[in-house]
Amino acid sequence: MKKVFPCGHRGRGQHCHRCAQEVAADRKKVEERAEERADKVAWEASFAADPIDLRDLPDRALVRKARQILAAIAGGEDYTRFRGKRLSLDRGVISVPLGQRYRLLFRDGEGGLRPIACMSHETYNGSLRPGMGS
Ligand SMILES: [Zn+2]
Repeated sequence: MKKVFPCGHRGRGQHCHRCAQEVAADRKKVEERAEERADKVAWEASFAADPIDLRDLPDRALVRKARQILAAIAGGEDYTRFRGKRLSLDRGVISVPLGQRYRLLFRDGEGGLRPIACMSHETYNGSLRPGMGS
């Protein structure tokens, strides 16, 4: 026989199964949120290990791509493999495209390429192209 539980739900048995399901679903949500928070904290902490600041990049995929390029170039791979080019204005600086809108900049010196910045294409154009800024 179905009965009405104190919560107002109808059902069979000693306890309301709907309320039990809701409690389980709430607990799951709390756990998921805790996982998301832990994931976010770990992600934010991961930037500390980067040789240059990648926090301005808009998404994780681009950050991972940047890290792959940084690691490859640090490991001695040629920047031309990543379509990198020397700046015409400063031949000691190499610009490697990162997606459509970003660039990784390296300084070519003793011991190879040293990463100096990650910036948007707009910033890069405004600060490094001839005739604009310093
Ligand atoms: Zn109930």
